[in-house]
Amino acid sequence: MTIRKHSIVIIGYGGMGSYHAKLIKGNPYLEVTGTFDPSEERRKVSVEDGYAVYDSYDKVLQDDSVDVVLIATPNDVHKDLAVQAFQAGKHVICEKPVTLSVGDFKLMTAAADEAGRVLMVHQNRRWDEDFLTIKQMYNERTIGELFRIESRVHGANGIPGDWRHMKAFGGGMLLDWGVHLLDQILSMVDSRIVSLNSRLSYILGNDVDDGFEAVLTFENGVSALIEVGTTNFITLPRWYVKGTEGTGMIDDWSLSGRTVTRNQDAEHVEPKPIQAGVGLTKTMAPPSEEATITGTLPDPFRQPSSFFDNFAAVIEGEAEPIVKNDEVLRVLNLIEAVFESARTGETLKDFDLYSPPAP
Ligand code: NAD
Repeated sequence: MTIRKHSIVIIGYGGMGSYHAKLIKGNPYLEVTGTFDPSEERRKVSVEDGYAVYDSYDKVLQDDSVDVVLIATPNDVHKDLAVQAFQAGKHVICEKPVTLSVGDFKLMTAAADEAGRVLMVHQNRRWDEDFLTIKQMYNERTIGELFRIESRVHGANGIPGDWRHMKAFGGGMLLDWGVHLLDQILSMVDSRIVSLNSRLSYILGNDVDDGFEAVLTFENGVSALIEVGTTNFITLPRWYVKGTEGTGMIDDWSLSGRTVTRNQDAEHVEPKPIQAGVGLTKTMAPPSEEATITGTLPDPFRQPSSFFDNFAAVIEGEAEPIVKNDEVLRVLNLIEAVFESARTGETLKDFDLYSPPAP
């Protein structure tokens, strides 16, 4: 790959903007050369961190030395900032959710195509090891064919920060963690969604959801429960998956977890009844020790290229994007369907944009 550092200006130097600056530091192909943020406090932080500040977004766009803008602002302004950047001939890295509707996203991709510039969305949780481990189990059938996938994130701190509480800024948990979890499941299960049922929660009394549950059924028979909660003082496992030969679980981001599979070599031994509450049960008795094998989680296949290395290769025309815009479009379409199912209480069918390749 050509060694030429592309200059990036970060738009929105808040929590994630400053994290991006750290991630890009030392990248052989990319360099943060400045920031733009209307907040006086964040400009000071930028200067302390060693990044020049621009007075206005127009000045960023007029600066011919800037190749890329990285948008890390609240969600409601992503679309306008990106479209203006394309019109000024810049490439764009945009934080998730890329924008708030399918219609807006189409305007963004049309502007990118017209300018011949790259739009890549920072769906960084495709690189998370917990997700890659489950994806490996799905692809390699480690516990047989997975037919049920439960993906949850639980917190007890409510909705953090300021703008995330407000609809006008594109707040709420479906547009926050939901985007990651839905993106992960769609990039794992290569099949059309045939039905969706969802519920949003408003426990904290904000005008946006503080969590949600969505149940997706795929054409290949897999069912997935996706859940985000911000009022969970006791958390459920990050992943719980069932396969035709066993069960798998990942507790949290430390990747502690296990698989338990049927021992094919063991002779069938009837479970002994156990006392359960005030009754007896054989059905719910634990299997005998010989009947199962407890295993460790598989070592996941890791992306050889980081998000930023991939982005640099894409703008050089040397690689395909790992996060593709048609995948981002499909996730946004699903998000609109989750809102719709929650609003109407209906199970939705036939809304998926995806057509799997012909066999
Ligand atoms: P934040 O509130 O910490 O920072 C946002 C910054 O944008 C603030 O400093 C604010 O002053 C600035 N800003 C507001 N309007 C602006 C404008 N028009 N132009 C330039 N700057 C503007 O928020 P955050 O947590 O950093 O989130 C920012 C974005 O990053 C959101 O889209 C969020 O969803 C995303 N995010 C992604 C991840 C991830 O893991 N991919 C994690 C956190 C946040």
